[in-house]
Amino acid sequence: MKKIILIIAASLTIMGASNVSWARVKPKITILATGGTIAGRAESATQAAYIPGVISIEEIIATVPGIKNLADLEGIQICNISSQNMTQSIWLKLCKTIDSLFTTDSADGVVITHGTDTMEETAYFLSLTVRHDKPIVLTGSMRPSSSLSADGPFNLFNAVALAASSDAKGRGAMIVMNDYILSADDVEKSHTINTDAFSSPNLGPLGYMRDGLPHFFRVSGVRHTTKSEFDIGNLLTLPKVEIVYGYAFSDATAMRAFAENGTKGIVIAGVGHGNYNREYAAEMERGYKSGVRYVRSARIHKGGVDSAAEEFDQRHPVSGLKSPQKARILLMLALTKSNDSNEIQRIFNQY
Ligand code: GLU
Repeated sequence: MKKIILIIAASLTIMGASNVSWARVKPKITILATGGTIAGRAESATQAAYIPGVISIEEIIATVPGIKNLADLEGIQICNISSQNMTQSIWLKLCKTIDSLFTTDSADGVVITHGTDTMEETAYFLSLTVRHDKPIVLTGSMRPSSSLSADGPFNLFNAVALAASSDAKGRGAMIVMNDYILSADDVEKSHTINTDAFSSPNLGPLGYMRDGLPHFFRVSGVRHTTKSEFDIGNLLTLPKVEIVYGYAFSDATAMRAFAENGTKGIVIAGVGHGNYNREYAAEMERGYKSGVRYVRSARIHKGGVDSAAEEFDQRHPVSGLKSPQKARILLMLALTKSNDSNEIQRIFNQY
């Protein structure tokens, strides 16, 4: 009898303890909502045209069954925009909000809902500027919330599950779309309308989500988050960096106009292996002397640009595997530290 009482007492203690520990271990995840199609609404369930960035984060969360079992959720509406209207002040606000949530231990991970058009840029910026190892996950959708087979709810479920996973720590900012987990440094929107819209053209996805759990294939090999050297804590603006596209008989007028209007850096989305014509080369020679720094990148999606070039001026750093839009972000941050071409190239080699 005494033995039975003891067993019952022990079981109750274990059950009690496990209830208590479950309540304690449920991660705190903050969803930072910025807008996009995931917050969009169309007039009918099958219509292609819609208005992005109109529904609130609370309404989005309410469309995802079971999401509250994954984590203690908090939603913060940062803005409600289409991501083609992203601004550097929103980037700085996101970075500072995440830093404060992590520093004060108010969140174990964050999810950012975002329009898909510039999601890869925000992801890369945060990967370079949030200096914490807690998970940062971006997601969105290709179909608006009102659509038949809207993809947003499952993407958000996966994003919260990933941010809540201890396995997601230390991997830099990630994008979750269509079950894939993609690394901020090598992800791009590669389809304009399909729900399978994101890919990592050079290195492949980091992994995938299944049954609310991440399965990783690889780790990102570049410096990010806790290994980043960039401190934007006191910055109110970033150096102005623009992108100039390369194409047959391209004219350097736009490049010159940028250089004469306060632009500190220009990324060339060059043809082939980051090539550009003699007109561009002449303008770059002139601009370099006036302090503008140029980085050679490519309009081609695979292979990147290295210094084994044709006849090019080695003073202009090369982007490695970074797309022009990622190279622009890295050049903005590099220019907060140095204007020296060798130093900029060192940064491009490491991030
Ligand atoms: N252009 C809008 C944006 O990027 C909608 C695209 C989307 O979210 O899929 O916010």
